[in-house]
Amino acid sequence: MAMLYDERVDGALPTVDRALLIQSLRDALPDLQLLCRDEDLKPYECDGLAAYRTVPLLVVLPERVDQVQVVLQICHRLTVPVVARGAGTGLSGGAMPLAKGVLLVMARLNRILEVSPQGRFARVQPGVRNLAISQAAAPYGLYYAPDPSSQIACTIGGNVAENAGGVHCLKYGLTVHNILKLEVLTVAGERLTLGSDALDSPGFDLLALFTGSEGMLGIVTEVTVRLLPKPPVARVLLASFDRVEDAARSVAHIIAAGIIPGGLEMMDNLAIRAAEDFIHAGYPVEAAAILLCELDGVEADVQEDCERVAALFTQAGACEVRLACNEAQRARFWAGRKNAFPAVGRLSPD
Ligand SMILES: Cc1cc2nc3c(=O)[nH]c(=O)nc-3n(C[C@H](O)[C@H](O)[C@H](O)COP(=O)(O)OP(=O)(O)OC[C@H]3O[C@@H](n4cnc5c(N)ncnc54)[C@H](O)[C@@H]3O)c2cc1C
Repeated sequence: MAMLYDERVDGALPTVDRALLIQSLRDALPDLQLLCRDEDLKPYECDGLAAYRTVPLLVVLPERVDQVQVVLQICHRLTVPVVARGAGTGLSGGAMPLAKGVLLVMARLNRILEVSPQGRFARVQPGVRNLAISQAAAPYGLYYAPDPSSQIACTIGGNVAENAGGVHCLKYGLTVHNILKLEVLTVAGERLTLGSDALDSPGFDLLALFTGSEGMLGIVTEVTVRLLPKPPVARVLLASFDRVEDAARSVAHIIAAGIIPGGLEMMDNLAIRAAEDFIHAGYPVEAAAILLCELDGVEADVQEDCERVAALFTQAGACEVRLACNEAQRARFWAGRKNAFPAVGRLSPD
């Protein structure tokens, strides 16, 4: 359904009887919010890949799964293509509308249906924000591991469609490794369940096929995600280097030493300066590169790993190695990395 913009795609589509489509939707779903005026459609013309824009034929904002199903059935009958959208933070144009298509905004299906501390899972609607899942799980000492930098805004439905990752994915995996079950609707409106509540399910791994398919295989209407216990201790080291190559080499040394950091991210000088100007994370602005390395687990292991990683940084030529001295500094070190994208956005129009 969703596809990167190509004028030939829109051009090749049959002309849609817009009035008939609107009437059919209104007759079947009188309470469905439907946008069709130019000024209402314009805000939906692109996602985070703002270089490409197309105003959709219509935008629909369902609040219930049965509404989504009827929208799909009507569009299927009238051969109108549908593009799904979550929060529109995607950077690959997946939620870019088609001029002859309906944009199906899933953001209002945003209820957390169940948090199971015993089963360590949460069942959520697709419009729930990534961060909201961890916030709901926090009282039980649990969290949802994949943490895209856009986690304050992006939806779990969009995460599934993009197989989103984040700084902690080196150790804890991408979206595909952290979901158990999906409820989906096919383009014709047929309901399917992929995966199961168990850790493994028989048959083909359709859950993995669906994850990362950018909305092309159907619409996600419910996601069951795994929750992990919060590690008791997490510490971050920040190492600065005069050469990018030295920073890269130390990454290889860390992995070769059998250490899997909770997060390991490199930033070059342009990214360091952009982030520092924006968020004041305390980064060394003269460094050619920095590495942020988070080690998590139980106190004794983290302590030992911090010492080993600091030694590996020094061996690789680090000119400075800093250990975040408290939670506030750890959060500030990560805030610079997590805000690198908006920081660069201040410098570039696209
Ligand atoms: C500042 C910033 C930082 C970012 N950092 C990261 C990062 O660290 N890691 C990362 O992986 N990505 C990152 N992204 C990209 C983006 O946030 C992710 O791809 C995210 O998963 C998109 O979620 P969304 O809700 O905004 O989806 P949208 O952009 O609305 O849609 C993305 C895709 O999902 C499909 N889709 C949406 N909802 C559904 C649904 N219910 N059913 C079926 N298909 C659906 C759409 O059709 C589209 O193909 C970042 C983006 C920004 C702007």
